[in-house]
Amino acid sequence: MIPRLTHVIHMLKQVERNVFHMFGHPPRELALAYVHENQPSAPPKKHSLKDIVGDGFLLAVPKFRRTLEKRWKRKFGSPQYVWKMLEPKTNIIVCHTCGHHHERKCLCENCYKRVEEETKLIKDKIIEKLGNQPIEQDVVVLYEGENVPEQPDEFWKGKRIIEMKKERPQWFSKNLLQKTTQAPSKSTDVKPTDLA
Ligand SMILES: [Zn+2]
Repeated sequence: MIPRLTHVIHMLKQVERNVFHMFGHPPRELALAYVHENQPSAPPKKHSLKDIVGDGFLLAVPKFRRTLEKRWKRKFGSPQYVWKMLEPKTNIIVCHTCGHHHERKCLCENCYKRVEEETKLIKDKIIEKLGNQPIEQDVVVLYEGENVPEQPDEFWKGKRIIEMKKERPQWFSKNLLQKTTQAPSKSTDVKPTDLA
């Protein structure tokens, strides 16, 4: 009789343990009261993160799946806002000066580079000749074979002549070095006479 009773108690304990596992707390209505046995139960096994990971490490991973629409939008952009796909350009034209291609309403890259290099040569020449003198002095650049332009004496006041030891490139016209902000002219001529 006694072994059978222990058996029943053991079964009920098993049921209670299962219910506890399901709900996370002992069932309030069906709490089982029984005499606690003095047998020392085995201590619960403690799992630490170190046992699971070991010598490795954990990476941050996404918790939720992104929808296909969001993934595509991130990858290809949106036509209304930022469109990331490659599109053929239809505004490419040929430069009339050098024949390279460039975008319409933009400077030709090749011509710009050539003028930039030529201007750098002039700058180096100016530095070589004027040194550390104030840069307010205007300079007149003369290439090989060019004559000093006939100007009144007032024109030459505070000006220096820089001579380049080469011929003027055909595409490097004189008006590229003219000041954009000039004093208003008193002459009544419509066209400037000294332009190339
Ligand atoms: Zn060009």
